[in-house]
Amino acid sequence: MAVSWDSPIAAVAGKEAKKVEQDLGVATVGDLLQHYPRSYVAKGSLSELDDLEQGDHLSVVGEVSNAQTRTFVDRRSGHTRYRTLVTVKGTGGRLALTFFDANKRTADWRISEHRIGSYGLYSGRLKWFNDAWELINPQSKVFSAEGTASEALDALPDLIPIYRAAGKVETWHIQDAVALALTLVDDVPDVLPAEVARAADVLDAATALRLIHQPDTWQQVKAAQKRLKLDEALVTQTVLAQRRDVLSSTTTTARAGRDDGLLDRFDERLPFELTDGQRSVTDDLLADLARERPMHRLLQGEVGSGKTVVALRAMLRVVDSGGQAVLLAPTEVLAQQHERSVRAMLGPLAEAGQIGGDADGTRVALLTGSLTAAQRKQALLDVASGEAGLVIGTHALLQDTVQYVDLGLVVVDEQHRFGVEQRAALTARSDTPPHVLVMTATPIPRTVAMTVFGDLETSVLRDLPRGRGEVQSTVVPAGQEAWMERVWSRIREEVAAGRQAYVVCPRIDATDDEEDSGLAAVEEQVVELADGPLAGLGVAKLHGRMAPDDKDATMRAFAAGEVDVLVSTTVIEVGVDVPNATVMVILDADRFGVSQLHQLRGRIGRGGHAGLCLLVTGVKAESPSLERLQAVAGTRDGFELAEVDLRQRREGDVLGTRQSGKRQTLRLLSVLDDADVIETARGIATDLVAADPTLAHHRDLAAAVRSLAESEAADYLDKG
Ligand code: ADP
Ligand code: MG
Repeated sequence: MAVSWDSPIAAVAGKEAKKVEQDLGVATVGDLLQHYPRSYVAKGSLSELDDLEQGDHLSVVGEVSNAQTRTFVDRRSGHTRYRTLVTVKGTGGRLALTFFDANKRTADWRISEHRIGSYGLYSGRLKWFNDAWELINPQSKVFSAEGTASEALDALPDLIPIYRAAGKVETWHIQDAVALALTLVDDVPDVLPAEVARAADVLDAATALRLIHQPDTWQQVKAAQKRLKLDEALVTQTVLAQRRDVLSSTTTTARAGRDDGLLDRFDERLPFELTDGQRSVTDDLLADLARERPMHRLLQGEVGSGKTVVALRAMLRVVDSGGQAVLLAPTEVLAQQHERSVRAMLGPLAEAGQIGGDADGTRVALLTGSLTAAQRKQALLDVASGEAGLVIGTHALLQDTVQYVDLGLVVVDEQHRFGVEQRAALTARSDTPPHVLVMTATPIPRTVAMTVFGDLETSVLRDLPRGRGEVQSTVVPAGQEAWMERVWSRIREEVAAGRQAYVVCPRIDATDDEEDSGLAAVEEQVVELADGPLAGLGVAKLHGRMAPDDKDATMRAFAAGEVDVLVSTTVIEVGVDVPNATVMVILDADRFGVSQLHQLRGRIGRGGHAGLCLLVTGVKAESPSLERLQAVAGTRDGFELAEVDLRQRREGDVLGTRQSGKRQTLRLLSVLDDADVIETARGIATDLVAADPTLAHHRDLAAAVRSLAESEAADYLDKG
């Protein structure tokens, strides 16, 4: 039977097929061929040891120079165990390998296999032990069974591919199956038209695939990667180009506004000057709204850059045009705050039909999950009658019972908190699609935006309004009493000066969960602080398990300055805006991710006063967590931090499929380092789709696009 790209994996993996399928998540021969080596090892080289760190994966080829077995008694079970210590040497040095075996037979076999002078290929995780590197229980393959060691070595390629092994599948099983597949398969799909490949100066698909698995030189690896990266970028960019294409042919109601409408009158009321950034972004938005093509725009704005007012102005423009506008917030706390501040900014303009209200004004409806039945009924009525031009809320807005008269604009605040279905639920509501604005304070590096959100227009608000105070950030080692005393006295000083503070904890209450026990908890801290170092100050708590009314009351009291110190979980992470708060103490700060810390810190330094952010942590020096905290302390530039974050999380996660067993969408492409490839792919994709929107003449590309669309990664693409 002929073996083709789509054949089941059994065709090449033989008796290993089941394991390969289960452990690597590859079902077809094509999947297997797209399981690229994670690295290559040059024969006989141990020189990379210098650059490695504990836990790194290392593969080496070396000559066995010593092998001995010792017995020891396992303390837990009382059984005798066998430890075989093998030393291998290569051009760069020596490396110790330790194998633990449960019985004598295996241990004896190890010794016989590792004859002095034989060559072995070893792959495993590095451990620093007794002042030297070693590999514990590495996967191994020894090449001296027949013939001489040097013959065996000669038979090895100069570059040995090392595959990501999983479960019971070892790298050499994969290597063998791949080798077979490469000789049998002759229908390797090619997503690039030949003339485009020539113009881009890349290999053809089949050659690239062979060289990524079986290179002789590093140049060949590079050339193969160049081609395969372009393929990966092209498929994503084609999906996005098709979406742009579809979008450009849908129409909606243009919202051109009117003179002396709510927007103009709102502007007259504004107590501050808009920043240049706010002006120019609003210009973009108003121009988009005036078109019949639905707006589809991403507004990235630094924390505290004033996105709300920009969104509100766009919303008022829609109301001025006879439509309704929705502001969707990720949390109840934030929705309530938005409602309060929108009402405050609009004043009588938001009180149409009420005493003292403006006859030409509109109304604001708040819809959250915690309204009473009567409140909810009233809100729904205001929306359904069209009296409420501005609708603010949480997920509750997404329910079918909410009927709009004429939904013109949907603003999604802090969009990274929302999933695809949620946005779709809202935008699919009316006959004509509404304009959509999504806002995020989690900056997305440009290349990521292009990969992931390539079908959105993007606006950026980089500057903060003038007169914002500086925020100083410092990492504080926990457990040193003098330091902690200083932390609390800083809060007392600020409160004495009329300011307010946040204390953020990773947990709500104490737990039996071993891993998390000992982490600062809101319920405990609020008591300890109020009775101890912060005695005499107004201390209140806020967390997600409190009743919605209590949360709202607490936030109001804090905003009104009636509470000095708010001890909370990350419920305050996004959007909370109390300009008088100047200190934030984050306990067990290492428990939070970079963007979370950046967001949290964004709660202070919002008024004219200087801010202070203290990142308290118990982690030891030189750990990645500490580096992360230092990075946060070192800059307030969200874009810089977003890159740190991405690198630390492994960027493969950008498209969400890095866990083993799942197929990855981006295998080689790095959204951080391959901006030029993505740019090239975007150009190619745009041209291809313009000439052939359904890809009728590009069958292989069409198939790859379909398969991406069916994968999870497409969800992520949709999140825009
Ligand atoms: P974010 O972009 O983080 O959502 P907000 O919209 O909450 O920021 O704005 C932060 C604070 O800055 C609010 O108190 C808002 O009223 C204020 N603000 C917005 N624009 C300006 C401006 N141009 N000048 C002064 N203060 C402003
Ligand atoms: Mg905001």
